[in-house]
Amino acid sequence: MVSTVERDGQTWYECEECGLLLEDEAEAKTHERNCDAEDPSYLQ
Ligand SMILES: [Zn+2]
Repeated sequence: MVSTVERDGQTWYECEECGLLLEDEAEAKTHERNCDAEDPSYLQ
């Protein structure tokens, strides 16, 4: 999930998988979909 972070009066979008901060929400969501960080809860 992408979470929003307020920093320096600006809203950032954080990838919860790896913690990367992005300025653009759509970009953050695209990143997260392709994120390499592995989350054990998603193992199938
Ligand atoms: Zn990520």
